[in-house]
Amino acid sequence: MDIRKVVILGSGPAGYTAAIYTSRANLNPLLFEGSEPGGQLTITTEVENYPGFAEGITGPELMNIFKLQAERFGTEIIPERVVEVDLSKRPFYVKGDNSEFKAKTLIISTGATALWLGIPSEDKLRGYGVSACATCDGFFFQNKKVLVIGGGDTAMEEAVFLTRFASEVRVIHRRDALRASKIMQEKAFTNEKISFIWDSVVEEVLGERETGVQGVRYKNVKTGELTNELFDGVFLAIGYVPNTEIFKGQLDMDENGYIITRPGSASTSVKGVFAAGDVQDRVYRQAITAAGTGCMAALEAERFLGE
Ligand code: NDP
Repeated sequence: MDIRKVVILGSGPAGYTAAIYTSRANLNPLLFEGSEPGGQLTITTEVENYPGFAEGITGPELMNIFKLQAERFGTEIIPERVVEVDLSKRPFYVKGDNSEFKAKTLIISTGATALWLGIPSEDKLRGYGVSACATCDGFFFQNKKVLVIGGGDTAMEEAVFLTRFASEVRVIHRRDALRASKIMQEKAFTNEKISFIWDSVVEEVLGERETGVQGVRYKNVKTGELTNELFDGVFLAIGYVPNTEIFKGQLDMDENGYIITRPGSASTSVKGVFAAGDVQDRVYRQAITAAGTGCMAALEAERFLGE
């Protein structure tokens, strides 16, 4: 079995930055793209806060540039997911969909995935009008009425984006105050197509697969009042879970499953295993912070191999 100096899991800003640094250090890194090549930025629209792009850039374009830069220095990219790792023996064992490797160091940048409400009707209608990605599915709702669930930046961003297509966008939030940043709140509040349903939670998504989403039933959490309202589409924007299932029991994690790294470092509870990006960051979750921690992981892996 091929023994690699560096194996990187994930192809978001953290993974590709780690790849750029380790390939420039002649460590010949192998990068598993994972189930969502390019990571979460590929399902966002305009990125206006990534330094270096004064006019903004779309998420997919930005990630393509990351990839080209990593390839330029010789990163080997495998279009597979990693389905199993064994960190108990050295070199570490890494099993992909169709491949197996040993790795002297491992950089985990598997990111995080959107959360769902977890109600059966949402599950039944996922892909039939229920989505967690406005960028992917917004186009299908030309001149339709859609609902966005959530009160954070993602919800505001998705709501504003959906006004490009939909005739009406409603945002439902379980409290009476948004969590989103002031600037995103302002964008949503001043958009004529967007209105809000406060203090309310979705109890059921109405419709069948044959008809698609036809509406939702929501409950006002203060009064208990139930309301049925017509909608053609429902977009989830209620946060994320880290993609750490295959590392459970092998690395220290917090109560939400985020990998714990040493403060000021990318090192984990296993020497030679580093974590970068959203998989270890529930606070900042930005492309630039992911890239920054990817760089830290790469430099630390290089140092570890040199010792
Ligand atoms: P957040 O965790 O910030 O917000 C999630 C929202 O969903 C909250 O309003 C929360 O309500 C609500 N929520 C959570 N669970 C449920 C549930 N089961 N039912 C109903 N509502 C629920 O996640 P985001 O995805 O919005 O943002 C994540 C991070 O990414 C943040 O740091 C954000 O700033 C950043 N981000 C930045 C962007 C930008 O700058 N352009 C764009 C997108 C994200 P409650 O408020 O009551 O907890």
